[in-house]
Amino acid sequence: MLSPSIHRPSYIEVNLENIRQNVKNIKAHLKNNEEIFAVVKANGYSHGAVEAGRVAIEAGATGLCVATLDEGLSLREADIIEPILVLGVTDVKYAALAAQQNISLTVAQTDWLKEAARENFATLKIHLKVDSGMGRIGFTNREELLQACKILQKDNHFEAEGIFTHFATADEVDDSYFQEQLHKFKKITADLPIDFKYKHVANSATTLWRDDSGFNMVRLGIAMYGLNPSGSAIELPYELKTAFSLHSEIVFIKEVEPKTKISYGATYEAQAEEWIATIPLGYADGWLRRMQGFEVLVDGKRCPIVGRVCMDQLMIKVPQKYDVGTQVTLLGKNGNDTITIESAAEYAGTINYEIICSLSERLPRIYK
Ligand SMILES: *Cc1c(COP(=O)(O)O)cnc(C)c1O
Repeated sequence: MLSPSIHRPSYIEVNLENIRQNVKNIKAHLKNNEEIFAVVKANGYSHGAVEAGRVAIEAGATGLCVATLDEGLSLREADIIEPILVLGVTDVKYAALAAQQNISLTVAQTDWLKEAARENFATLKIHLKVDSGMGRIGFTNREELLQACKILQKDNHFEAEGIFTHFATADEVDDSYFQEQLHKFKKITADLPIDFKYKHVANSATTLWRDDSGFNMVRLGIAMYGLNPSGSAIELPYELKTAFSLHSEIVFIKEVEPKTKISYGATYEAQAEEWIATIPLGYADGWLRRMQGFEVLVDGKRCPIVGRVCMDQLMIKVPQKYDVGTQVTLLGKNGNDTITIESAAEYAGTINYEIICSLSERLPRIYK
């Protein structure tokens, strides 16, 4: 794995107190006292999975969700002992490893259980996944779901810990497809022969905006990091605090003559005498090439990214000479201005989730 470049002034700053407050705040607003499983997949949405997971647990989360078994294993290596659920499909050949590490697996097909039953392990915790309309993974018919329940009941290899589904449109204003999915999930799981410990349907959007009564756990992702799951389509029902910011420094600055070209392709040409500063961060850090023309903050002022974003560096136009070492903010607050993750997402034609998850392991995460 790439180790972070710590001898370079580009870094992600994570405010763990904001994550703590978000989890507490969301917990206080839960209508049915649901348990919270904090979703820390993709390195905790780039915030650091171990750090975000720990603080979420301190704030009241009772378990964690990850996307892959490896992500779960690294949490166990960090001595996190709370329940961990892998949300994606895990190959049967790793069932024993999951069982040994007390990591719960998602099962989306009966055949998986039949094959896993032949493996050698003591107890593996299982969450059955129902596809109620997301079209990704999960049981779609009741017959097969009943068959899976039967296997879980009679084979003491398995502990039936949970059953769940995932919504495709919980972050949209129109709730008709959401209701359709909810209805389908309730119907397919009605009167099952197993009383699962956890029945869960809610991601962040569902937790914030939909009444999901009848279920007893929520899988809280983006909202615990203080971000709006809808971007800005629906207003947050209460305040959440962004925990994430991205900063660097000017490492080089020059005054250029009119018509001086900047960066690959020579696509930018100075209109007059201009101050051009170089920032040591580029698309290999996950600051996408298409951020060309977007702004950063220097001394509280908005400065455009000029010319193409390079792999490891980019150039900005600043209004005056600044010292090498002057702070540059790409996401977050600088002076009296803030560049939001949503505005970067909008500029790049994507969602806030992708902007943060794209930021690579090369950037150190600094905790406040
Ligand atoms: C990623 C994920 C979540 C969390 O989603 P957010 O929108 O970030 O809250 C919940 N459930 C499943 C199955 C997921 O894959």
